[in-house]
Amino acid sequence: VIAIQGLSKSFGDLDVLKGIDLTVMKGENMAVLGKSGSGKSVLIKILVGLLKPDNGFVKVLGEEVADLPARELDALRLRIGFSFQNSALYDSMNVYQNLAFPLTMNFRKLTKKQVDDAVMEALEAVSLADKHNQMPSGLSGGQRKRIGIARTLILKPEIMLYDEPTSGLDPVTSTEINELINEVQTRYNTSAIIITHDLTCAKNTSHRVAMLLDGKFSKVGKFEEVFDSDDEQIRSFYNYNF
Ligand code: ATP
Ligand code: MG
Repeated sequence: VIAIQGLSKSFGDLDVLKGIDLTVMKGENMAVLGKSGSGKSVLIKILVGLLKPDNGFVKVLGEEVADLPARELDALRLRIGFSFQNSALYDSMNVYQNLAFPLTMNFRKLTKKQVDDAVMEALEAVSLADKHNQMPSGLSGGQRKRIGIARTLILKPEIMLYDEPTSGLDPVTSTEINELINEVQTRYNTSAIIITHDLTCAKNTSHRVAMLLDGKFSKVGKFEEVFDSDDEQIRSFYNYNF
């Protein structure tokens, strides 16, 4: 569902991505690891058409992202759930309104009952059905993440993009988010890219991991394969994080 070939991106003198290749298959969770500044967010932005690549091609759900006219890009984005690092909830809206919002933005005309049902289904998927009247300020960090994920689920995405889903969370809450990522994958049959520094998260949620080093994916494979490596940089990334 995602195919990246020979993708490069520079900002002035700074070569961030230097010809990367990556394929994510239907139903696959792919973790992307790499240190701060390695280009993980740039990669995600290129995938959803917020940044243009310099070279190479990027195909998402069969569409070549860089060439899409604005209307079709919007349509493609509706099929992709983007879970932001900071959850990006609207603080002036309660949980119900936050979840209903993407539905009312959508051109489809839905009845109140259809919106209610969709909101409750998404809240149940993240086990927070009782929080629909709560304001975001009254939620814990982990609950905010779950609501953020629920809001992306409301449009039944085919691809989920998680940017640092467990950052800032304690180990127990992180484990719950990892389980949620796996539940979403089975329940909605999504494919996902999980951007993370958290090796436990990568290990427990992904089928494969891709290690972004010096602008390239130096290793792509099962977690154990990638980290069973003599490469100095991979070893130090592992030792630093575990
Ligand atoms: P983190 O883990 O801290 O989120 P990251 O891997 O997501 O890091 P990116 O945000 O992808 O890092 O940034 C990669 C590099 O590209 C950084 O050096 C950043 O300063 C640079 N960069 C990103 N976007 C732009 C831009 N629009 N203009 C200029 N430089 C940029
Ligand atoms: Mg980033």
